[in-house]
Amino acid sequence: MYDQLTGELTWHVDMAGYEIIETENLGSAQQTNLDANFYRPDKQEAYYARRGAVRAKGGELRSYKPSIDAPGLARRLAGLYDEDPLLNRPTDADVLDFVSRYGLLSAGTEMPIRDVIYTSKYLYLFSVAIDSADKHRARQLFNERVLPTITVRLVGSKTGRPTANWTLEPKPTDLISAAWLQMAQELTHGKSLKKCAAPDCLEWFPERTNKRFCNNRCKMAFRNAQKHQQSD
Ligand SMILES: [Zn+2]
Repeated sequence: MYDQLTGELTWHVDMAGYEIIETENLGSAQQTNLDANFYRPDKQEAYYARRGAVRAKGGELRSYKPSIDAPGLARRLAGLYDEDPLLNRPTDADVLDFVSRYGLLSAGTEMPIRDVIYTSKYLYLFSVAIDSADKHRARQLFNERVLPTITVRLVGSKTGRPTANWTLEPKPTDLISAAWLQMAQELTHGKSLKKCAAPDCLEWFPERTNKRFCNNRCKMAFRNAQKHQQSD
C-alpha cells in the first residue's frame, strides 16, 4: 500500500504462504491492471486462464519496501518467463516461489496466474531488448504500451532543512507499477543491474564493481560449492 505520509510503497507477504486454486472463470472482476497493454491472442488467453489463481493463505503479514528491499524486482519477474513454450514457464512452482518472497503483484488476497505470466512475459521482452543493446526500440515500445499506475511526490531537502530546490519523484502504487518503474529507470539513466552469481539464485541487484552476490548467504553457498568442486 502506498503511504502518502512517507511517500513509500509498503508491500505485504503472507507468512502462512500461498496456494494455487482452480477458478471457474476469470471474469472482469479478476482483471488485474497490468499497466501494460499488448495484444493477447484468444487461444493463449484461454490457455493461461486455465492456470487458475494464486491465493494468500491468510496468515500474518510481513511487510517490506520494494524500492529499498527489491531493487531487482523487474528483472526477477522477467526471469520467470521463458520463450520456449515446452518449458511452460513460469511454472506453478515458479509463481509460488516468487509470491512467497515478494507477495502478489496487485492489491488483494488473490490474483490470476495468467496476470503473473503476462507481467513476466512483458518485462522479459524489455529486458531482452536492453541486454541486446536495443534500448531505442524498447523506449518507444514503453511509451506506446506501458502506462504504470504511479503517483508523484514533491521532494525538498532530505535533511528537512528549508530549501527552494524541490523536485518531483514518480512513486509506484503497487508491485506491478514498482516493477515497471524499475524498467523505466533501466531504459533511461538508471543504474544497470547484475544477476547474482550464485548458481541457484534468481535475484538481481544494482551493479557495483566487485559485488557478485545478492547477499552473504549466496556468497557462502557459492564458495562452498567451489570448495566441493575442488575436493572432488
Ligand atoms: Zn543470490
